Amino acid sequence: MKRNGDFKGVVLGEGSTGKAVDPCLKNIWSSRVPPRVKIFIWKCVSNILPTKDRLRRRVVLLDSNCVLCQNANEDLLHLFLDCPFSCSLWFSTPLNMCTTRYPWTSFKEWWTHVTTQFKAMGCEENFDKMACLL
Ligand SMILES: [Zn+2]
Repeated sequence: MKRNGDFKGVVLGEGSTGKAVDPCLKNIWSSRVPPRVKIFIWKCVSNILPTKDRLRRRVVLLDSNCVLCQNANEDLLHLFLDCPFSCSLWFSTPLNMCTTRYPWTSFKEWWTHVTTQFKAMGCEENFDKMACLL
């Protein structure tokens, strides 16, 4: 991404260090969703969103319960995949996804799995839908 937020003209497939770009990140940056959505997904797969588990490592935070259900510690996986509210939301979308089917170890693992499945089924447009739903 350029300093002005423009993604056009950025060479995909190779990072600034000359190393191969992670396919997961390449999918995000090459998607047709608005830049702010790309950045949000990048923060999710990089696990840098300020969820309560991360905030507790930096500041004193007494309440670590999920902001949605109040029944579990809030981390990225719980907030977006395991929380009953999130599960209901994902399942009620046109994508009809069950986010708790597998024991995901990271958001990036889930995201990579789902986007790979979309690609294998020839439904790449679902990537954009899922990105916007997130
Ligand atoms: Zn919850």
